[in-house]
Amino acid sequence: MKEEINLGRKTELIFPYSIYANIFKGLSHPTRILLLRLISEGGKYFKELLELTRLSPAALNFHIDILKTVGLVRQDAERAKYLITDLGIRFLDILAYLNTKLEEFETRELDLYCYKCGEAKMYADISPFYIRLWCPRCGGDHGDIWGLFLLNKFGADWIHKDLGFLVKECIEYSFEKTGESLRNSRCLNCSAKIKYKYFEDKIVGECKVCGFKVSLQINDISLDRLAEYWVRYRRVKEVLKGKVKHRGRDCWKVFLIDSEGRVKLTQYIEVGTGQVIDEETYE
Ligand SMILES: [Zn+2]
Ligand SMILES: [Zn+2]
Repeated sequence: MKEEINLGRKTELIFPYSIYANIFKGLSHPTRILLLRLISEGGKYFKELLELTRLSPAALNFHIDILKTVGLVRQDAERAKYLITDLGIRFLDILAYLNTKLEEFETRELDLYCYKCGEAKMYADISPFYIRLWCPRCGGDHGDIWGLFLLNKFGADWIHKDLGFLVKECIEYSFEKTGESLRNSRCLNCSAKIKYKYFEDKIVGECKVCGFKVSLQINDISLDRLAEYWVRYRRVKEVLKGKVKHRGRDCWKVFLIDSEGRVKLTQYIEVGTGQVIDEETYE
């Protein structure tokens, strides 16, 4: 008996790979990370979480169950209020640390002229997670005035990619992801329900839960087409002709012209929805 206890004491703690993997599996959905943060602020009742996240009760239950199973969240003695566990607090600390890492980026000059002013080559601030394109001439310092924010689908491997290819692929990827979040009325950041407002010339959304803001210009060449032409010709410029009637609908007519002023692409984009109604190409 005595020996067994001694043996037990001698046992070294083995690094718990599968336990960690399990906990991270518990965090492998933006909604669960969001819930963990919300619950960490003094605990929350189910009803409060419903209101804050606008999830369905079934979906909320599903996510909370996982958080409880992996030991990040518990319920109080009355089984009413959800509370964060000590382990949960530690994990939020880790995420906060990672957050400071996300702010690090490298800046590169692109061999692509600004498609707004056509006057200067654009720059890209690149991290494994995102890319911000900005024009030193008309966009302010690092995109203070305007910039194009993209998701980096290549992660740390971006360093081995041709910059033009990287930009094109990431514009298309971000275009797809943004379209998805608009269709599903979900926040691109935390995936909470969000009500996008459709104006004549733009779509605007602000997430009440995480504060993420989106503003998408409708009267611009659609990003997928822009990516294609921009990277092919290196110097194209957008010109907004204005509102026209096309196929019986109110549309924005937008051109993409090359460095000699020749029109390469015309798009008719519906006012107030951003839907591309028609386009003409000139090769
Ligand atoms: Zn510019
Ligand atoms: Zn959000």
